[in-house]
Order: sequence, then structure tokens, then C-alpha cells
Amino acid sequence: MIDLHAHSTASDGSDSPGDLARLAAEVGLSAIALTDHDTLEGVAEITATAHPLGVRVIPACEISCEVERGTMHLLVYFLDDASGPLQDRLSFLQAARASRNDRIIATLQDHGIAITLDEVLDEAGGGSVGRPHLAAVLVRHGYVDSIQQAFDVWLAKGRPAYLGRERLEPSEAIDLARRSGAVSVLAHPGTLGLEAAELDDFVGSLATFGLSGVEAEYGRYSRDERDAYHSLAARHGLCVTGGSDYHGSYKPGLFLGTGTGDLAVPDEYLTALESALPAPHA
Ligand code: AMP
Ligand code: FE
Ligand code: FE
Ligand code: ZN
Repeated sequence: MIDLHAHSTASDGSDSPGDLARLAAEVGLSAIALTDHDTLEGVAEITATAHPLGVRVIPACEISCEVERGTMHLLVYFLDDASGPLQDRLSFLQAARASRNDRIIATLQDHGIAITLDEVLDEAGGGSVGRPHLAAVLVRHGYVDSIQQAFDVWLAKGRPAYLGRERLEPSEAIDLARRSGAVSVLAHPGTLGLEAAELDDFVGSLATFGLSGVEAEYGRYSRDERDAYHSLAARHGLCVTGGSDYHGSYKPGLFLGTGTGDLAVPDEYLTALESALPAPHA
């Protein structure tokens, strides 16, 4: 069993990369992909801890893309820690996050909510800083009861303290990934908020840009949803992947490997994904 979607303290997970490696071994995973948002910062640490425990680590990250409606996340796998066209863009994405966090805090302050950037940076403890960290600070101050409530009341798209940030276009992100020797996969396709036919067209266009896979086995999806995404992938000749989207205490009720309890991602998915890797330059 493997898990191709997990977050650490390098972005908005609560477990350090080392703890994640130990947890992966404990739950019996043969491989784990670290998919922190816009950063590869945790890769060295998780690899150093996981390898002696017999757990393979796939260096990866999760990138948010610009779409008209809904939310699109792209998982990029086998992305080397070294430099490359996509790696070079990650610092730009970090800067876009920083300016957005400033603006969200200013907006919350306009609504009489007194939280500071320092508290949020402290909560994040380095790495990619995002809304879940803001949410945790709102909970700590008693403005809301839970991280989910912080999103529902303030931070989710359409709520008073939601602010966008600069994102990559889907075609650009997929192209940068390929040129960096990596493969890209459409994460949790349901968040796009598209009807089945629209989603089919959209995934078709992503496939022409060079998308390699669809995350069909996802921690929070029902069997019917997963089946639909398997067919979607098959129609476009794409791989399927799977993962829990584990975030530790930032997403209560989601477990590494098993998601909400019924997830079991077979090792073969990784083999297939690996064979979709672009040929290295001579
Ligand atoms: P950011 O990277 O700052 O845009 O925050 C994205 C993170 O917030 C992801 O880990 C999402 O799972 C989480 N998130 C986004 N929207 C919601 C929502 N409506 N409810 C709960 N969590 C959310
Ligand atoms: Fe996240
Ligand atoms: Fe995501
Ligand atoms: Zn994720």
C-alpha cells in the first residue's frame, strides 16, 4: 500500500517530515509522496528518515492553478530537489502567498479581528504559509471553534476574508513540470466544481498539455466518485493515483494511508506513474 498525497510542517500539515516518515512505516506504507504546497523543503528530512525504515519517498509538491470557477490543484511527482524550471518558480509562488497572507490579515483586522502576521508565521513554523495556519490562529484566539469553521465563516472562497493570489495557468504548470523531469496529476478532481461533461472536456485539454494522471482514489471520495474518476482517466489514457491528503491536526479525521478509513492505494499505481516520466535529455 502507498499514499501519494500527504502534507508536513513544510506546508500546512502538523507532522514534521520525520514524523510523517515514521507514521508511514507504522501504518505499513511501502511508499509515500510528500506533496507540500509550493515547496520541496521537507523532502530531504522525510527521505533521510524514511529510507532506513524501508519506505520509499517520492519528492513532490502540490501547486494551485488559475481556473475560472472552483479550485484546481496539480500534484507534481518525481520533482527533484535540485533546480529546474518549476523549482525556480516555487519562490515566486511563495512570494505570492506572503503578500496574500498580509492582505488577509489586514482584512480580518478591518473586521475587528486582532491577529498578527507574527502569530501566523509562528503557527506555520517556516515553509509554505497558508490559510490553515491563519485558521489555527483564529481558533486559538477563540474567534471560531474549529479550522473548518474558520474557513466557513472567513477564509473560504466567497467569504469576507478570502483573497486570491497569483497562480500558474494549468498549461504553464503542466509544462514546467514536464520540463523539470516530473509528471503532473490532477488532484481531487471534485474541487473543480464541474459537471461530468465539462470535467471530461477540461481533463481532455489538460491531457493535451501533458497531464499524466488523475487522482481517482482520494481520502474523502465515495466509491461512486472514485469509479467515475477511474473512467475519466481511462477515457483520456491517463494514469490513476491515490492518496489521503493527510494534514494531521489541520484536517481532523483524515488518516495517512487509509484516508477516512477505506482507502488502500496499490503499489502498481506508482509503477504506472513512473513509466509516464518524460525521457531525460541526452
Ligand atoms: P492556501 O494554500 O492558503 O490557499 O490554503 C489551502 C488549504 O486550505 C488546503 O490545504 C485546503 O485543504 C484548505 N482549504 C481550502 N478551502 C477550504 C475549505 N473551504 N474548508 C476547509 N479547508 C479548506
Ligand atoms: Fe493543504
Ligand atoms: Fe489540494
Ligand atoms: Zn493536498
